Amino acid sequence: MNKHFTIAIDGPAGAGKSTVAKAVAKTLGAIYLDTGAMYRAVGLYMVRNGVDPKDSETVAARAHEPKVDIRYVDGTQHVYLCGEDVSQAIRENEVSAAASGVSAVPLVREILVARQQEIAREQPVVMDGRDIGTKVLPDATLKIFLTAAAEERARRRYDELTAKGQTVSFDQLLKEINQRDWDDSHRAASPLTQAEDAVLVDSSHMTIEEVTEYILSLARERMDNA
Ligand code: C5P
Repeated sequence: MNKHFTIAIDGPAGAGKSTVAKAVAKTLGAIYLDTGAMYRAVGLYMVRNGVDPKDSETVAARAHEPKVDIRYVDGTQHVYLCGEDVSQAIRENEVSAAASGVSAVPLVREILVARQQEIAREQPVVMDGRDIGTKVLPDATLKIFLTAAAEERARRRYDELTAKGQTVSFDQLLKEINQRDWDDSHRAASPLTQAEDAVLVDSSHMTIEEVTEYILSLARERMDNA
């Protein structure tokens, strides 16, 4: 049993998990843990060391090499890989696919899940990922499965990248989202699934503020009844 309250937010890529989880954590005075960033750091390590992230055998053999640390600087999560701040580097598109590759390796999951559980034992936390409600925090105070239609998720990503001045193809983004959904939900180790006791939230027709308010109201209700 966790002494502190814990909120698990799972769902497919691009559903708005991190924005919502960050806002919920800030309001409730909890830390926000982006578990995807940890898989991304391991993926980046493998790419930098010439290991194909889909080569499960080699990834497993080297799974203990990447030292992934999470530190908070002015309330913002920074991810360190073997001492280097890789918070920016892990956001590259190439690293998304690498993270998906390494996350299918059971030993990688074992190492990162243990670290995530340790963080949740130390303080109240809002965690987002794919297996938080099912594996990492099975006793979470509140579990949310946040989703949105693939086209809507691709549109949000398209708007985000074009706003940054990047030239991207909507069709390509949609293809990548569909591919990652398929990979994440069909792998043998902890596939993306909704926990039985999770509340399903479809954000296709909701603003980020509406989703955040809704989750906060559920969280307060649970905490009052705890
Ligand atoms: O959430 P984000 O897109 O940054 O995650 C990158 C990849 O890491 C996902 O596609 C997924 O394969 C993996 N992941 C995971 N379990 C988590 C978080 C992320 O398998 N808890």
